[in-house]
Amino acid sequence: MSFTAPIIDIGDAIDAAAARQAIRESEERFRTLASHAPVGIYLTDPSGDCLFVNKTWCRMTGLTPEEARGKGWVKAVHPDDRERVAAEWYDAALRRRPFAGEYRYLRPDGVVTWLQASAVEYQSAEGKIAGHIGSVVDITARKQAEFALKEAKEQAEAANRSKDRFLAVLSHELRTPLTPVLMSVAARLMDPDLSPDLRDELTMIRRNVELETKLIDDLLDLSRITSGKLALRPQVVDLNDAVRHVCSICRDQILEKSIKLRCELDANAGEVTADPARLQQVLWNVLKNAAKFTPDGGQIELMTRRQEGDRVSIRVADTGAGIAPEMLPRVFDAFEQGDPRVSREFGGLGLGLAITKSLVELHQGAIRVQSDGPGRGCVFTIEFPARPAPVAHAKPRSPDAKANRLRLLIVEDHADTAMVLRKLLSASGYHVKTAACAASAMQMIEQEPFDLLISDIGLPDWNGYELMKRIRAAHAIRGIAMSGFGMDEDIRKSREAGFADHLVKPVNVAQLHDVIRRVSAAPVV
Ligand code: ADP
Repeated sequence: MSFTAPIIDIGDAIDAAAARQAIRESEERFRTLASHAPVGIYLTDPSGDCLFVNKTWCRMTGLTPEEARGKGWVKAVHPDDRERVAAEWYDAALRRRPFAGEYRYLRPDGVVTWLQASAVEYQSAEGKIAGHIGSVVDITARKQAEFALKEAKEQAEAANRSKDRFLAVLSHELRTPLTPVLMSVAARLMDPDLSPDLRDELTMIRRNVELETKLIDDLLDLSRITSGKLALRPQVVDLNDAVRHVCSICRDQILEKSIKLRCELDANAGEVTADPARLQQVLWNVLKNAAKFTPDGGQIELMTRRQEGDRVSIRVADTGAGIAPEMLPRVFDAFEQGDPRVSREFGGLGLGLAITKSLVELHQGAIRVQSDGPGRGCVFTIEFPARPAPVAHAKPRSPDAKANRLRLLIVEDHADTAMVLRKLLSASGYHVKTAACAASAMQMIEQEPFDLLISDIGLPDWNGYELMKRIRAAHAIRGIAMSGFGMDEDIRKSREAGFADHLVKPVNVAQLHDVIRRVSAAPVV
């Protein structure tokens, strides 16, 4: 019997010992690194079950390494995130995909920490999957800052919404009583036998009520512009027609001061794409300022010009108060009036030009001002993109006798407004009936024919939208909404209910006549 001693290659043995030593050192390095790292570190087996966690992980979670082992680590996750995170983790391990996520730990002492976790698989020396190595970073401070920011944003948005609603309600309440005043005054002023004194007084009352309305409108417009809620209703508009119309609106103010108005309208000015009401507001603001700041006997020059490159311009030059050089860059700022004497003498809030500039820019236009200084007049120039090929469109129908035989039903619970509207429209030849609530309006419509409904929105029983919807369901009657609420949302609701137009109180008589004519001439859809 012979024994053969195993042959050990000394060289191999030394290599193996060196390799074991190297592994030990490497593991030691990893442990030192892991236990001093400021982030939580964990190792798992290939299935995703925990093999090792470092000290930081234990501090973050309040669990011991033994408690974390296997599936124990799941207990560290906040109950609200636990199921989702465990499912995502084991799914990533199964599919051998990297894992990343943000979730919460709930420590046994009740402290909640937000963390960002990520893990990748690591392989053995033979290239087989050995498990996963992951890290968790405490992001509680960042999350708290994000939540605080989100909360502050939500609070600011809610405050903004309440402010918008408050402004809308306030303007409604302020406008409603102005309507009967404006309309009565307008009706009285139509009387040719009025004594000059009374005419002057009524004109003064009308001017002041209109001023009040303008202030309310300006505040509302400014709020819509700053909140980005001003929506345009663009149409094709003939620029010269728009300028002529604004001249006719300002005529009295200009005549009163014996100002000479010279208009030079370029026959090729053509058309622009604009919201007609907003374009009128822009031109009116500038022309009315020119009239306001030009002394008696002065001159205003109004010019339209087709420019190179398909732009069109409107130039309003006056020989009035002029603007000091230091004020020039600020005239388009909100609440800016330059000299405080201006507000005392002329009133206003200094919003007109700020709103004008925003409206012009919303139309892709530009506005600028020049002045050689106080007492030397000023020139406002407004430019808009012109429509390349003017399209002929039908002129609005002129009023005819037939239109005045229209049968109108006014639904208005504000007794003074209803009374003045009835008087005024009857005087213009319309057949007018009034109802103080939606139910009695509905009853009247069942009993006699009407062509047009003019209805308030806030009514004691159903609102005006509901009334219009019910009428449209059974009758071919067009409707005009008349409301103290004039936000875009209110106008949209009116359209949806079936109203052909939406007038904001206080309604000016000429505007009401225009809208009645336009709406009654359009086919019922
Ligand atoms: P408001 O809305 O109060 O009328 P605006 O914004 O329209 O104010 O105008 C702001 C200021 O710009 C006026 O208070 C006035 O100082 C100056 N301004 C505007 N237009 C003219 C003008 N044509 N001539 C002289 N100053 C003007």
